[in-house]
Amino acid sequence: MSRVYNFSAGPAVLPEVVLRQAAAEMLDYQGTGMSVMEMSHRSKPFASIIETAEADLRELMAIPDNYKVLFLQGGATQQFAAIPMNLMQNKVADYIVSGSWSKKAFKEAKLYGDARCIASSEDGNFSYVPNLDNLEISPDADYVYICQNETIYGTRYPKLPDTQGKPLVSDVSSMFLSEPMNVADYGLIYGGVQKNIGPAGVVIVIVRDDLVMEDVLPFTPSIMRYSTQVAAKSLSNTPPAYGIYICGLVFKWLKEMGGLSAMQQRNQEKAAILYDYLDSSRLFKATARKEDRSLMNVPFVTGDAELDALFVAEAKNHNIESIKGHRSVGGMRASIYNAMPKEGVEALVAYMAEFEKIHG
Ligand code: PMP
Repeated sequence: MSRVYNFSAGPAVLPEVVLRQAAAEMLDYQGTGMSVMEMSHRSKPFASIIETAEADLRELMAIPDNYKVLFLQGGATQQFAAIPMNLMQNKVADYIVSGSWSKKAFKEAKLYGDARCIASSEDGNFSYVPNLDNLEISPDADYVYICQNETIYGTRYPKLPDTQGKPLVSDVSSMFLSEPMNVADYGLIYGGVQKNIGPAGVVIVIVRDDLVMEDVLPFTPSIMRYSTQVAAKSLSNTPPAYGIYICGLVFKWLKEMGGLSAMQQRNQEKAAILYDYLDSSRLFKATARKEDRSLMNVPFVTGDAELDALFVAEAKNHNIESIKGHRSVGGMRASIYNAMPKEGVEALVAYMAEFEKIHG
């Protein structure tokens, strides 16, 4: 068996120890005589899996007691709709558009009310996070929305916007659990898990309890109401049970690795290896503004589309997979999530240096 260095933006690399444990427990989960995949979501063993997962996530992120944790389906994209449906009591929301994902969320919110784009970096091809000083927050906004780490363009908010007391809603899909966050700064944090936490099919929503309301937009499907899912403890219908189990294993792994501060340090070290090389290279160039660079997604180009294509094509020979940039921007992108070992980043930089010697 040989494993590659998988730089995919998501679904993405998972910790090998987690995959091994899942494999070992595949046929008989802890003496139950069945796989977690085969188990009733109302059974005692599954209750323990989801309760332990929530407790471990609460511990890792130091989630205050007045926040609810939900494990849902529908991906991050479904939350683009669920958020306005649940939170737009005044039918006004402010969106900061820093890339494709916040743009999509903004567009979706417009279906349900007066969503306003209060800052955008589209004019600079989303290579930076919009200026957050002097934002014109709408006095009647129900919330202010950001995508805190933009997976495609490789930017990350260097600081949070001052929302003037409005709840801050953040899509953290591509930076989930990569560093500590102060949950109390947010009204709602959410993300798909298929980048940093588990397999596709689970989205985690962390929502302050005063934002879990009965008084939602009237057409909101029951299944998409946070109040329904809070009351049912994410078990309103059959949850993505196997995915939640893997998330739980990853939470245990993160605790063993020393928690989120340790992860942040590791991620900073890994990202520095790549950015330092990019900053010194005469061939490759990072595309995001320096102050706003993501620790998780690193897009870069040579400036020559043919050379980019050659770099991507030859990467396989170096055990490097899924290094191609998103189809909307081209070039290359290295996603270096929690589970990407430092050796993987070093292998990538070694290949880049070799390529530069020949083509630079
Ligand atoms: N938000 C961000 C930041 C993402 O990177 C993605 C997926 N790449 C999404 C939302 C959409 O996620 P999903 O496919 O789970 O709906």
